[in-house]
Order: sequence, then structure tokens, then C-alpha cells
Amino acid sequence: MLDINKIRQDFPILKRQVNGKPLVYFDNAATSQTPQQVIDVIVDYYSNYNANIHRGVHALSQEATDKYEEARLTIQHHFNAEKAHEIIFTSGTTHSINLVANGFATLLQKDDELIVSALEHHSNIVPWQMLCEKTGAILKVIPMTLEGELDMDAYSKLLSNKTKLVFVNHISNALGTINPIKSIIDQAHKVGAAVLIDGAQACPHIKPDVQALDADFYVTSAHKICGPTGIGMLYGKEAWLNKMQPYQGGGEMIDQVTFEKTTYAGLPHKFEAGTPNICGGIAFGAALDYMNAIGFDAIADYEHELLDYGTKQLEAIDGLKIYGTSKNKTSVISFNLEGIHPYDVGTLLDKMGIAVRTGHHCAQPIMAFYKIPGTVRASFAFYNTKSEIDALVEGVKKAKMMLS
Ligand SMILES: *Cc1c(COP(=O)(O)O)cnc(C)c1O
Repeated sequence: MLDINKIRQDFPILKRQVNGKPLVYFDNAATSQTPQQVIDVIVDYYSNYNANIHRGVHALSQEATDKYEEARLTIQHHFNAEKAHEIIFTSGTTHSINLVANGFATLLQKDDELIVSALEHHSNIVPWQMLCEKTGAILKVIPMTLEGELDMDAYSKLLSNKTKLVFVNHISNALGTINPIKSIIDQAHKVGAAVLIDGAQACPHIKPDVQALDADFYVTSAHKICGPTGIGMLYGKEAWLNKMQPYQGGGEMIDQVTFEKTTYAGLPHKFEAGTPNICGGIAFGAALDYMNAIGFDAIADYEHELLDYGTKQLEAIDGLKIYGTSKNKTSVISFNLEGIHPYDVGTLLDKMGIAVRTGHHCAQPIMAFYKIPGTVRASFAFYNTKSEIDALVEGVKKAKMMLS
């Protein structure tokens, strides 16, 4: 059982008013809020030991380096990676995916096949399309069902010895569907393909074990897990990371530089060119510590309660349709009111202090599938409450009255 009142005390922003009303923050799938414990770590870094890492002999540089590398270990343990140097710090999920897509440019040939799913965020589509343009590889799509699930029979049929890479999200940000990634990974491995899992939407709800999953790559952003923006990670199996070309050149990622030839540093530094987001990396570790202290089992149980509660109440509103009705879902409710544009609903809810997201949620293919311009998306975190959901339901009813 979570002590929600105590947890809410950790988040200063939850005390805010918006448009004269107490803030109800239901845009957690876009970014989570930051607890005081993580804010304190950020303040401590800039107040006490801000310095560039790895190269310095002085005390501050040593302290900053130690804390940054400790954070890498925290991340390694959280995701159960075998080796610390399999964790690459990036600026976030988008950066991680671009890094892998770029790293595969020299590993693919014309007519090799890549498989994406219909449920992806644009950041797990566009970098691969760019890679296909560069290499002549072909992109195939796992179709989705009306419930918002992947068509796994179709997936099995897409796989062949031409398949080199499969990339799917662990959880859909637009619909909340939890995808059967273990089965996706196992089937891909049977044909010798590598798999990248976009975990941006999963990590706030689930603690993934990359070794148990046998994922080749797993990527996420800190800002959806109570950490700051501009920092994230790429987990990659050592063997793949060694095969891949570095994504960016510069300081930190080299071994020897001459004008004739440059040799690269070993892992993880080969993929970490330039001064990184040092404070962000340390705060990422602190965010995982915070979430783990609460416990992911307790978080998942409570969020399910919120999801069931919210789904029942919203479903009961006449003319409201929920998109994404899989039994395997996290606490995301995407919906529309019949005949009303999602943007108008979102704008009215904002007037009531309720923050939801409206639009295509960076997943235009899903919206095209349902033939809608977008949805209203309410996404719940472990610091939300049933009474906040009551406020949302009242707000949606009011919006419906005003707009129809
Ligand atoms: C948020 C999100 C992304 C993009 O993350 P960034 O932090 O913007 O790079 C990618 N995929 C999914 C499923 C997401 O939810």
C-alpha cells in the first residue's frame, strides 16, 4: 500500500494552482513531475561540486566523476544489465534510437528488412526511415487491431532470414497497451534479428530486466521516471555496441587523435562524445532510487486501481469512446467525445486546472488507423488520486455540455 498523502508531499508542484484551481496533473505520459529528493540532488550538484568529469585531477572533478559513474551503476542495476559499460548516457529516448539507427548504417545491406510496429512513437519510426534511405533496407510494419494491440500472427509472418532488426515499444504512449515484448524478442532471435525496445513509456510503471528479456537494446528517458529532461540511456549488449560505429565524434570518445587517423575509446565512452549532462545523469540515478524506494510493484498495483476507476467512470459518459482497450494496459486513457474536437475538450479542462494532452501524441499512424485527428489523453502516475479522477470526470461532463 502506498501512502499517497506522504508521496504527494514530495512533489512541490502538486501544491500549485492553475487558473485558480488546484492543479490536477494528468499529462504524466508526456513528462512526470519531479520529487524534492531529485530537485535537492540537482541543487546540490550546482551548489557544491559542479565540474567537468573524467579529465580533471582536481577534487571537484573527481567528485563529479564519481557521482556520475555511480549513477551509471544505479541504472545498470535497475535494468539488470550485465556490465556497466553497456549503459550509455544519452539525452533521451530519441537520441538513443538515433544512435542505434546510425550505428547500424554500416551493418545493413540493400533489401535487408527492418520491422517496426503500428503502435510506435514517431521517434521509433523516423530514425529508421532515415536509415532505410541511407542503406536501401526495407521497413515492414506489424499491424494493430481495433483494441490497440499488435497483430502477433502478422508479426510471425513478417519475420524471415532477411529481417535484421525489430523495434517496438514496451508500452504505447498513445494507448497504454503493454506489448508482448518477450515473445517479440524470442521470435526475432530465431531468425537472427536484433531487437530494440523503446521503454520510454514502460519505465514509469515497470522495472524491466534486460537480461531476462534478452533485449539487444533497451532505451528510455529520465524525464518520464521523475528525473529531469535532457538525459536518458541506451542499454545495448556489448557485442552489438562493439560492432556499431560511433554516432558523434568529439572529445571524450577518442583514444588517439592525429590528422592521419583517430582511434576510438572503449565502451561506454565511444558513444558519449562531448561534455555530457553530468547533473542530469546524477539526477537520473536519484530518480530511480526514489522510485525503487516506493517500489514498482506497489506503484503498478495502485496505478491499476486508478486505471480501472477512471475507465469505469469515463466509459459511463454518453458519447465518450476510449481508444486502446487491451486488457494489458498501463494507466493511460485516450478518449474522444462524439462530435467534439479533442483540442476543445483539453482547453476547457485546462480552465479547470486539469492538465491532459490532446492531439496525435507523436503517433500519427495510430490516429490514421482510427481515422481521428487525435484524442484527449489522461495519463496517471502513482502520485495521482481518485478524487483527481473525479475532478476529471466532472470536467469532461461539463465540457461535453458546453461544447455539444
Ligand atoms: C516519450 C516517448 C518517446 C520520446 O522520448 P523523448 O524523451 O522525447 O526522447 C519515445 N517513445 C515513447 C513510447 C515515448 O513515450
